[in-house]
Amino acid sequence: MGNATKYENGVEPFKDIKSDIKVLEKISKLKDKLSDKIIILGHHYESDDLIQFADIRGDSFKLSQEAAKNKDKEFIIFCGVNFMAESADIISSDFQKVIIPDVEAGCPLADFALLPNVEKVWNEINSIVKQKIIPITYINSLANLKSFVGKNGGSVCTSSNASKIFDWAMERGKKIFFFPDKYLGGNTALAKKIDKKNIILWKRNKKLGGNSKEEILNAKIILWDGYCSVHKRFKLEDVQRLRKKYPKIKIISHPECNFEVIKNSDESGSTGHIIQAIDNSPDGSIWGVGTEQHLVNRLQEMYPKKKILSLSKNGNQCVTMSKNTPEKLLNILENLNNGKIINQVIVNDEVKKYAKISLERMINISANSVNRRFK
Ligand code: SF4
Repeated sequence: MGNATKYENGVEPFKDIKSDIKVLEKISKLKDKLSDKIIILGHHYESDDLIQFADIRGDSFKLSQEAAKNKDKEFIIFCGVNFMAESADIISSDFQKVIIPDVEAGCPLADFALLPNVEKVWNEINSIVKQKIIPITYINSLANLKSFVGKNGGSVCTSSNASKIFDWAMERGKKIFFFPDKYLGGNTALAKKIDKKNIILWKRNKKLGGNSKEEILNAKIILWDGYCSVHKRFKLEDVQRLRKKYPKIKIISHPECNFEVIKNSDESGSTGHIIQAIDNSPDGSIWGVGTEQHLVNRLQEMYPKKKILSLSKNGNQCVTMSKNTPEKLLNILENLNNGKIINQVIVNDEVKKYAKISLERMINISANSVNRRFK
C-alpha cells in the first residue's frame, strides 16, 4: 500500500517551503547554463519557490504532453510525483532521460492500486462475469498498471477526460473496472446518471470486495477502493461553512473530492478547469476551491481582485509532492553540470510498450474532448 496508509489519516497543516536565496540564485545560473539540454516541468501543487523554475506548469496530463512535445531536450526534470515522471518517460523519445528531484515523491492514491492486487481482483471478476470488461486507470497510477490496462484493451483517463473515456468504454464493454480513485470513477459515473445500484465498490480485504455475485453481475461500474488523501479531506461541512459566510460564493472542486462535496459544488473539474473558471470570472468574484493549497494560494496571488479561499480551514497540502524542494533541484543540476545523472526514472521496455498503448489510446479518444463539468 506504500504511502497510502502513511498519510491517509493525517491532516497536515499547510507549511510552505521557503529556500535560501543563495540556493535559488544557484539554480537560476545553472538553469541558464544547461538550457540547451534541459526542460523543467512543474506540477501546480509544487511550492512557489520550486515552480518558479518550471519552463512549463500544468497538471499531470498537460505535463506528459509537454514531455512528448519537447523532443529536443535530453533531460526532462519533472517536479511532480513519480507516476508523472514515469508517464513522461513512457511518452518521451528514447534518447531523453526523465529526472525527478526526489525519488521518494510518490502518490498515495497511485499506491492504493498495486498491480498484483488489481490482477487478483480482475481474475476474480472475470471468473464471474462472462461479458467484456474494460479496465480504465486514472493517470494517477503506476506504469505497470497502465501497462496492464493497455494489455487488456483499456485506457488511461485524466480528471479532465474521464467522461469521454467512460463513453468510449461503455460502447465497447458491458462493465468498466475503474482504479485507483473511487471518487473520480464514482463522480464520473454519477454525472452520467448511471444508477447508483449499478455502481459497486470493491472493498479491500473483503470476499468478492464485499459484493454478492448478483451485484457484480448487475454492475456497470466496479470501483477500486482508493482515494487521494488530500482531496478526501474536504468535507460537506466545509462547503456549508463557506456558503453561510459568503452567500455569493461559487464552490469549485476537483473530482477527487468525495461525492457529497462534488454534489454540493457549483462546478467540478481538473486543475486546468479550475484555473480557467477563476480566470474567466469577473473581478469581485468569491471562490471556495477544493484542491491542493499551493494552487489555491497561487490563484489568490494571480487574481488579487477576486477572493479565493480553500474549502479547508487549515489548508490542504500534498506532502509527497512537497518532498521536491529547490535544494533537491539544485542537487540534480549540479550533478548534471558535472556530467552525472541522478534520480533518473526509468520504465522498463516491456511495461513501457503496453503503458504507451493505454496512454496513446486516451490521447486519441480525448483528442476533441473539453473539460467536463460534473454538475
Ligand atoms: S494531490 Fe493526491 S493524487 Fe495528487 S499527488 Fe498528492 S496524493 Fe496523489
